Amino acid sequence: MEQSDDTLPNQQLVHCFSYFPPSVKNQYKGSSKVISKTIQYLSTHVGDYPYKHASVVAGHLLAGGGMEYPNVTVIGKVSDRATLQTVIIHEVGHNWFYGILGSNERDHPWMDEGINSFYEKVIDKKIKSESEQTESNLLAKLSGENLLYPLVAMQEEDQAIEGKSAEYTKLNYGGIVYEKTGRMFQYLNDYLGDDLFEKCMKSYFEKWKFKHPYPQDIRAVFETTTGKDLSWFFDDGINSTKKIDFAIHHVQFNKEQIAVSVKNKTNFTGPVSISVLKKDSIIETKWIEYPYQNAVYFQTNSNDVDKVTINANESIPELKILNNEYRKNALFHKSKWNLRLGSSLGIKNANQVFLLPSFGYNYYDQWMLGLLVHNIKLPNNRFQYALAPMYSFATKEIVGTGVMGYSFFTKSLHKLTFAIQGKSFHNYSTKLNIPNTIYSRYIKIAPSLSIDFREKIRRSPISNTLLFKYFSIWEQNVNFSKLNKDSVYKPYLGAFGPKSYGIVEFQHKNSRTLNPYSYNIKATIGESFLKLGLTGNLKVNYHLPDKAFYVRGFLGKYFDFQNTTYPALNRRYYLNASSTASYDFLYEENYLSRNQQNGFMTQQITMEEGGMKVNTGLLASPIGENDNWLGAVNLVSDIPLKLPVKLPFKLQLFFDACTYANAGKLNVSGQKAVYDAGVQLNMFNGMANLYVPLLMSKDYKDYGKSIYGNKRFSHNIAFSLNFSKLNFLKTQNIVKLF
Ligand SMILES: [Zn+2]
Repeated sequence: MEQSDDTLPNQQLVHCFSYFPPSVKNQYKGSSKVISKTIQYLSTHVGDYPYKHASVVAGHLLAGGGMEYPNVTVIGKVSDRATLQTVIIHEVGHNWFYGILGSNERDHPWMDEGINSFYEKVIDKKIKSESEQTESNLLAKLSGENLLYPLVAMQEEDQAIEGKSAEYTKLNYGGIVYEKTGRMFQYLNDYLGDDLFEKCMKSYFEKWKFKHPYPQDIRAVFETTTGKDLSWFFDDGINSTKKIDFAIHHVQFNKEQIAVSVKNKTNFTGPVSISVLKKDSIIETKWIEYPYQNAVYFQTNSNDVDKVTINANESIPELKILNNEYRKNALFHKSKWNLRLGSSLGIKNANQVFLLPSFGYNYYDQWMLGLLVHNIKLPNNRFQYALAPMYSFATKEIVGTGVMGYSFFTKSLHKLTFAIQGKSFHNYSTKLNIPNTIYSRYIKIAPSLSIDFREKIRRSPISNTLLFKYFSIWEQNVNFSKLNKDSVYKPYLGAFGPKSYGIVEFQHKNSRTLNPYSYNIKATIGESFLKLGLTGNLKVNYHLPDKAFYVRGFLGKYFDFQNTTYPALNRRYYLNASSTASYDFLYEENYLSRNQQNGFMTQQITMEEGGMKVNTGLLASPIGENDNWLGAVNLVSDIPLKLPVKLPFKLQLFFDACTYANAGKLNVSGQKAVYDAGVQLNMFNGMANLYVPLLMSKDYKDYGKSIYGNKRFSHNIAFSLNFSKLNFLKTQNIVKLF
């Protein structure tokens, strides 16, 4: 237990207690002082704390960092002292916002959590500057970056500040109710000035303490006290999702005067601050109000100013601050570029280009090393790119991959993304009768348009996506010639054979908490074939945390348009039971080896089409390759037990069954279906899997026996790599994983 007593401005004595177990006594050192400082601040700047004591109790809490009750606050487990301080300030602050000012925190959570978050930041900063405390964790840093609001707003996923708590998505509850409200009040505070803002808050407190204020009540107090029309704040800021972006329009330096005009890039109608600076310290700030028609004049000698900035302290929650500065002596007055390692978080005042090392591996190029040049960050830019040219140490040539995309939103907020993907690696090598290996490569260029259809209800777990993608794929031929001299065939690199394909894919996803499912319908068309596929996925949750049963189903139909006498030319387009490299004619997957006959790398499969795990690629007609129709069921189960040891991977059981047109005739055994079953090691959340088949149907068994004899067990172990399924242009989805 720790106690601090403090005398409030009205001479009342308050006893502040914190109760905690000895195990966290270091974290809680000074915690009662944080309570008293918070009470002191809010009593001085909002209104008197009417009680004689306040307590903080370290407890076992699962709902967030803390939970407020009048006079008492329960605090859950926190990572460090800095976070504990923030949580205490926040929870003690609730005595004012929700306790004394009894607004309805379910119907108008911003009046409670939002205003409280504004004061939390102010007090936190004040105490930290007093104690020069620097320790802080990553999450605190992220919220300090004001990251959540831009993250949701840039994706048009934001909701208005005014709304019922049950209607918010998880990200919006944090990003809008807490963060954006806090920033809007800081904006209002800066515009009105500390004194007038405080006068408003004090009148609001006096008028509504121990009562139930509504949004119109706080608005009335602010507008009466200031004598201003604050519709920009309450209508645009609180009641709408209007985005904010102001830009410097024109700056004119005269001898004793600087004229600045501002451009409003959105339909938001709030005031904007303009500051003139010298060596990054503000000399003077003025506000310009809607409709921003006239220039603002600073009576300053232009030699005393080297920069003009709008929204200098970034209290206005703008989504773009790149256009806020005018640098007098810079070559480009308005635009700024910088290059840095890694990536960055938050809204920045410069165009950033990021660099990272990149490396790769495949059978032909072997190890590759290069540079990843990108602008992918959080929140996302509308235009994004990631280019990874690499040097291959085996082929001594440049290979690599890259993607760029531009996203925008329709009026109904559906998201459209135009993207283009490019890729070129080697996929074949031969040394037949020649001294040095030759390598042939492929080049892929694939433009696409995807449309994410948004549900009207933001909390909806349903998403629908339609994708159109065109593929131009150039595969380099390897030709063979025979010279009379030694009468052996020698390979040489030939021309690139271009091919075109297209896919149209519709995906429906319901990511509800229990038993989520998805399905997709996909049409793939080439010059001589059409393939239709329907895939469904269902996850059935067990009554155990993190344990589930997964069902996948596939049904495919193939149409052949070619009129040649060699139907086998189209084999790579056929439906397949086991999706191995030879069927990846679109080069959508990352296969380590594409044209090898044997070796562990050839046992790489993808969970596409039949989803079987056994590669029978050495057969002239691999098992389950079909030019008519194919259907499959794939079952995966977590082990529905609490394992006694913690493994670095997820141990699962799998079972696959597949049947296809004429199966009884095509399968040597005469069986009408094939199956396999075994153990699966699921690593990195499904990004990599290792499959150990333990049971399989007769056709697979006979294949293994005839090709590999007694060594067949290891040849049946398969693996999959699913990194290609990560969409790097959708970084916001990566955030949602946490
Ligand atoms: Zn709260």
